[in-house]
Amino acid sequence: MYQAVIGVEVHFELSTETKLFCRCKNSFGEDENTLCCPVCLGLPGAIPVINKRAVEYALKAGLALGCRVNSPNRFDRKSYFYPDMPNEYQTTQAFIPICVNGCVEFEVDGKIKSVGIHEIHLEDDAGKLIHSDGGTRIDYNRAGVPLIEIVTEPGLYSADETVAFLEELRLRMSYLGISDCKMQEGSMRVDVNLSVHKPDEPLGTRTEIKNLNSFRAVANAIKNETERQIKVIENGGVIEQETRRFDDTKGVSTVMRSKETREDYRFFPEPNLPPMYIPVNKIDETRSNLPEFAGDRQRRLCADYGISLADAKIITSDRLIADYFEAVASLCDQREAANRIVRDILQKQNETKIHVTQSCLTAEKLAEIIGIFMSGRISRRTSRQLTDVAFCEPIDIIEYVEKKGLFQIVDEQVISAAIESILCENSSVVDDYKNGKTAAFSYLVGETMKRLKGQASPEIVNKMLGLMLKSNKNL
Ligand code: ADP
Ligand code: MG
Ligand code: ZN
Repeated sequence: MYQAVIGVEVHFELSTETKLFCRCKNSFGEDENTLCCPVCLGLPGAIPVINKRAVEYALKAGLALGCRVNSPNRFDRKSYFYPDMPNEYQTTQAFIPICVNGCVEFEVDGKIKSVGIHEIHLEDDAGKLIHSDGGTRIDYNRAGVPLIEIVTEPGLYSADETVAFLEELRLRMSYLGISDCKMQEGSMRVDVNLSVHKPDEPLGTRTEIKNLNSFRAVANAIKNETERQIKVIENGGVIEQETRRFDDTKGVSTVMRSKETREDYRFFPEPNLPPMYIPVNKIDETRSNLPEFAGDRQRRLCADYGISLADAKIITSDRLIADYFEAVASLCDQREAANRIVRDILQKQNETKIHVTQSCLTAEKLAEIIGIFMSGRISRRTSRQLTDVAFCEPIDIIEYVEKKGLFQIVDEQVISAAIESILCENSSVVDDYKNGKTAAFSYLVGETMKRLKGQASPEIVNKMLGLMLKSNKNL
């Protein structure tokens, strides 16, 4: 009878070339403190200059989530003191964020749900503390990296719903190409706010859960926190508004700090950045250039290419794969293209950790392989072997098949001549077959294949042997 109510705050690191307020490179995994300047180190007198690309990315995100755009919008200082923050404030948008009032539809167990987007704001990231035995180091390479924070309304009601929403959100951001969206690397970070109440009563007090670095952790934290809050209330306690940390391996959350109030941050407008005006034509242009998102694309791929919804879902879960599929499918059998990509190519990607678009297997090459396979000139096994090799080396397909002698004999005259001589030489086996010994058939296929050095198309051998045995009743 208690209902969980959830709202999430999701940070995406924007994949711009440079940081939000300076020209330092925005890059992950470089040597510590090599991507820093007076601005992102917060040195006195350094003046921030807004990165136009980051604003464009935030705009794209907002329009992709059905938001209204605030023009002008504005930056504010959020004061707090912590070693990973070289200024004693974060530059964020506390009062007039760039985008507000959106709505996102997503699918859970075949049903369409929706949740409101309260706002999207732009802000700068902090540095990173690196704890080791010798002490703690600080890496400021990440300080000043542009972030968007997407804040939903408290309008999600279960772990499944929340994860489905987050998946949709991640998919949209990756389709926009504005973020790497990698939870393990921190380019997508999720904080969960959760309260419980009885549906006919007002919303309860919420807690905020941080430190969630996978969708699985999000789901576990929601289940865990829902149970914890219900237990507290049923034992006559009250829920404190606090920030909790979730340990996914132990499956428990602990208090990190009691929630600060807004006053603690002493927000005030950033004096070094003017309000940002976003022209109406810029908004219209951005909206009309939004990509076709995964849901629409799934439906179109099913209709246009006749592939299954299951395959379409897998293919559209990566925009680049969907593009790759369409490029391949325009050149060869479409279902076979889907089949190959979903079954062989994705597995190869996992094995090699190389995305197919970064591999040697161009869409043209895969289509060529599928084309020769469909014509019967190579076996399925050979075609698999070819995709394997062509993924890693820039081979010429036809040349390779010729050199390795992988072409199948499909010439029916050649095959029937071979069958004829095998039938003559094995008249007792033919008799066995006529007397109902089905194993005799496979024996004759085997002998024919042997005669043709294993290079004949087994489908054609099977088909022709059947026909010849039937027509040669009195052989
Ligand atoms: P703050 O300004 O303190 O961060 P907000 O009102 O902006 O708080 O809300 C932050 C997040 O908490 C939002 O995602 C919102 O949906 C969620 N939230 C607010 N109230 C509740 C509640 N009673 N139960 C669950 N989530 C809530
Ligand atoms: Mg907040
Ligand atoms: Zn810098």
